[in-house]
Amino acid sequence: MGKIKSIKDIDIKSKRVFIRVDFNCPMKDDGTVADDNRIRAALPTIQYAMSQDAKVILASHLGRPKGKVDLKYTLQGVGEKLAELLNKEVIFAHDCRGEGVWSVVENMRQGDVVLLENLRFYKEEEANDKAFSMELAKLCDVYISDAFGTVHRAHASTAGMAEFVKDKGCGFLVQKEVDNLRPVVESPTHPFAVILGGAKVSDKMAVIEELSRNADVMLIGGAMAYTFLKAGGFNVGKSLVEDDKLELAKKIISRFSNKGTKLLLPVDHIVASELKEGVKWEVTGDENISDGMMGLDIGPKTISLYKDALKNAEMVVWNGPMGVFETKPFDNGTLEVARLLAESKAHTVIGGGDSASAVKKAGVKDRITHVSTGGGASLEYLEGKKLPGLVALEY
Ligand code: AMP
Repeated sequence: MGKIKSIKDIDIKSKRVFIRVDFNCPMKDDGTVADDNRIRAALPTIQYAMSQDAKVILASHLGRPKGKVDLKYTLQGVGEKLAELLNKEVIFAHDCRGEGVWSVVENMRQGDVVLLENLRFYKEEEANDKAFSMELAKLCDVYISDAFGTVHRAHASTAGMAEFVKDKGCGFLVQKEVDNLRPVVESPTHPFAVILGGAKVSDKMAVIEELSRNADVMLIGGAMAYTFLKAGGFNVGKSLVEDDKLELAKKIISRFSNKGTKLLLPVDHIVASELKEGVKWEVTGDENISDGMMGLDIGPKTISLYKDALKNAEMVVWNGPMGVFETKPFDNGTLEVARLLAESKAHTVIGGGDSASAVKKAGVKDRITHVSTGGGASLEYLEGKKLPGLVALEY
């Protein structure tokens, strides 16, 4: 990956600074913000720009209005919340393009904050339309990306417009993500452990390939483990298995054994006859699951095997739950892994999504080095893909 400037490396003094933020907040039916975490997360970058007397132009998407104006998805309520958090007027532009927006921006004074209306009210945003990108670019002198959750999307505001702005870089949120994810892919410290879980091998194939280049040990949990175990000749009962991926799983197993990366699979499971809260469950004696039963979580022997494997790790990256963590008691393995990471002295990185909710649920989020804010974006980053929203910032 090439070099990216931080907002601090760019002279933004008194300039018009367009910041692509992620204000895609959960909203209440009355149009007010239900959870302001994403707004709070963007405050350091916004406040820094204000402190430089910049004219701060904020833009985001909210929900899926599908390229049409739909006031159910207006950002007005977000603007009101932002004003409250900044303790300062936020000028709401009621649109993100056209004469009205031009005149709002032209009338901005230094230190003013303008919030544009939902970018996805125009289909040109997601289509990464060139003319729309140029229109957005004309609003500003400097382009800053601080919406990590969308950097894997090639949209006009996340990638397209950067080409037409001379000065560009990232805000503090994106910078923290890149600073923490980059070493995992490019220069991990060893021993380097990778923990992968979730439903499907097929969804994690690319990340297995990429991270196994450098991993010393890879620990697998979740339903994807059953595809590997079935491929290895074990009985998996009626557990979730991707039968069309058995050959692929066999190839991965043999590739690992030739390579020096240790592949660890569960050695026992929590099983039940069906997936239901309160259902009778039991622990298997070994890898095998009897007919009529399904594996819903990793068992106690697996947890201690994984604990041992992580003991000396210097770097650990984790993506995907170890079981059906949405349903008790099948959340135990996932929560235990969250605690193992919290206790570890390693540089610990969590790739967003379900694993991020698990560390919150286990109450250990603060003891993890980095919990990514973008599930899809961080998974694609860990797959070694070039993310359009980051490539667009390179110089
Ligand atoms: P993913 O989006 O691929 O990370 O998968 C997450 C989903 O995998 C969660 O909704 C889990 O409930 C599901 N999952 C994890 N382990 C199992 C399992 N043993 N059986 C069925 N689903 C599982």
